[in-house]
This record gives sequence, structure tokens and C-alpha cells, in this order.
Amino acid sequence: MDTNMNYTPEELQAILEKAQKELQEKLDSMTPEEREQAQLRAQQAIEDDAASMQKLIDEAAKVAAGNIPTQKPKFCPNCGAPAGDGNFCQFCGTALQNN
Ligand SMILES: [Zn+2]
Repeated sequence: MDTNMNYTPEELQAILEKAQKELQEKLDSMTPEEREQAQLRAQQAIEDDAASMQKLIDEAAKVAAGNIPTQKPKFCPNCGAPAGDGNFCQFCGTALQNN
């Protein structure tokens, strides 16, 4: 199976040139409309890639955020006093909600 994998640099160059020639011939045989469509599809594929990459980054950020303890507000929303570590303001007793 691996006998065909051992190309010489010259063979690789020939394969590359053949592929480029075939691609050029394909492009030449296309109408301007077809070429535009192909270009749009290529652009769409690039955008899809970027979108799925962004999704992965968002997911990773969500996972990372989940590992950070939710911080309580630094100040009481009711009286504005510096909030302690408890669930209620130590000055006025207002419940300190996680945000
Ligand atoms: Zn308070």
C-alpha cells in the first residue's frame, strides 16, 4: 500500500504541475457565472470554517468561565456598603445576589 507513497521530488513536481494544469483547464472551461458560483462556494466554506472556529472558542470560554467561582457584587446594591463574603449585606441585610 505504501509503494505509491514514495515519490521522488521530480514526480511530486510533475503531479503538482498536472493538478495545476487540470485546475486551470477546469477554470477555463467554466462560464463566468460558474466561476462566480465556485468562488462563492469557496468563500462560504471559509466563512463556515471561521464560524465553527468561533463556536469552539465560545464553548471553551464558557467552560473556562464555569471554572471561575462566580463573584459576588463588591458593594451592596441597596445601601452601597462594601459587601462582605456572606449572602446578605452585613449592614442592611439585603440579599447579595450573584451576577
Ligand atoms: Zn446593604
